[in-house]
Amino acid sequence: MRVSFSIDSRCPACRNYKPHYEKVARLFNGPDAIHPGIVLMTRVDCAMKTNTKLCDKFSVSHYPMLFWGPPTKFVSGSWEPKKDKSEILVIDDGRTAERLLNWINKQIGSSYGLDDQKFKNEHALSNLTDYNQISQAVYDVEEATAEAFDIILAHKAIKSSETSASFIRFIQLLAAHHLSRRCRKGAAEILVNYDDLCPSGNCSYEKSGGNDTLGNFPICGKDVPRGYYMFCRGSKNDTRGFSCGLWVLMHSLSVRIEDGESHFAFTTICDFVNNFFMCDECRLHFNDMCLSVKTPFKKARDFVLWVWSTHNKVNERLLKDEASLGTGDPKFPKIIWPPKELCPLCYLSSNQKSIEWDHEHVYKFLKNYYGPKLVSLYKEKSVSRSKEETVSATEDLTVATNALVVPIGAALAIAIASCAFGALACYWRTQQKNRKPRRR
Ligand code: FAD
Repeated sequence: MRVSFSIDSRCPACRNYKPHYEKVARLFNGPDAIHPGIVLMTRVDCAMKTNTKLCDKFSVSHYPMLFWGPPTKFVSGSWEPKKDKSEILVIDDGRTAERLLNWINKQIGSSYGLDDQKFKNEHALSNLTDYNQISQAVYDVEEATAEAFDIILAHKAIKSSETSASFIRFIQLLAAHHLSRRCRKGAAEILVNYDDLCPSGNCSYEKSGGNDTLGNFPICGKDVPRGYYMFCRGSKNDTRGFSCGLWVLMHSLSVRIEDGESHFAFTTICDFVNNFFMCDECRLHFNDMCLSVKTPFKKARDFVLWVWSTHNKVNERLLKDEASLGTGDPKFPKIIWPPKELCPLCYLSSNQKSIEWDHEHVYKFLKNYYGPKLVSLYKEKSVSRSKEETVSATEDLTVATNALVVPIGAALAIAIASCAFGALACYWRTQQKNRKPRRR
């Protein structure tokens, strides 16, 4: 992520330029941002005395003047002009909003448009039936993962060997199959360091800036935008968001696992919800549905369909509750999902009382919807520092299922007490101990 940095003053040219600059800034920053956090834009008024030193440091020679560079070089003015010359660029073609966005697009190899705003405004109305909206959910899944992790930290929720094991298994699942590369990387780092961070399951949670506590290992990295749910954004402050993101995470995991991992993924998700989802009613209902599964899953397909039908059972219950209590989000009423508009072939027949599903089509639909379709926007508009990184991030998303070479199912089958957190982590530790991944 880079920062576009405008130097402002009281000059009329700056006042005239402000709407152009803000038009672009709104795409990336603020509560209504459509591409949150991808570019961070800030403004400094060089007419203010407190900014004199900073403006001198950046050799501001005219107004308005736009700079581009890594955030770290702007934070606390840590740029050393003599040493870091090439890291800060002056934006020489940003006279209008269109030209500024064009310049940014060229830098990061993206194709953002000022019209993207329109797409977002339509979002709330058409979310339920618009097949393309799911591609927006990549960021939500990242945010929900980071939020789930923060909740665990805030509640110091790893309290016993049972919760410790449940946490490790969930992190294993994320390290192998999370759709986002940065979350897989963060999860793998936690896994590699787990027995240092949580010796005998006693974790230290503080965020001290070092690398010796769980709190210092942000699961999806430090740059994941927070408070910006897009696909999962409710029309009211207190609806949707995290719990919607958690469902999308669960569906997106389910379509990425292999047959041999299906029962492991099932028990891992059940235990995770049971131990770490801080909604008692949700936990209890979900746990009942987990306990009703009597035969271990052998096929990934069955697990994908189980998550889907379980989610629909929750929808069915809430549909009634929300209608009678007036809770819920008026723009996102609960429905039995997917609606016909999204997947006509999923329906064999339906009437007001019941739906007969074509499970083969439902499965195909889910695989595509929560698989390639979900990451398509990420691929098209990948945020990266260089062309090489764009390519590697894109490739990485398409091969997410192979992020860890060791299949989880196999690893667990040989999980033994000799290692505090199972065979997969043992494998990782032996491979990585001598070259622990660098923190970002
Ligand atoms: P959500 O139900 O969160 O769904 C998110 C998105 O997933 C939808 O917009 C849709 O695009 C898609 N979707 C919907 N249904 C399916 C499906 N069947 N298969 C695949 N994709 C689908 N709330 C309660 O009040 N009581 C509970 O007992 C409860 N239990 C929960 C258990 C779990 C494990 C979770 C994660 C959440 C639970 N919640 C519960 C919260 C509730 O399910 C919703 O997440 C919340 O009300 C927000 O709803 P939403 O409109 O954002 O859609």
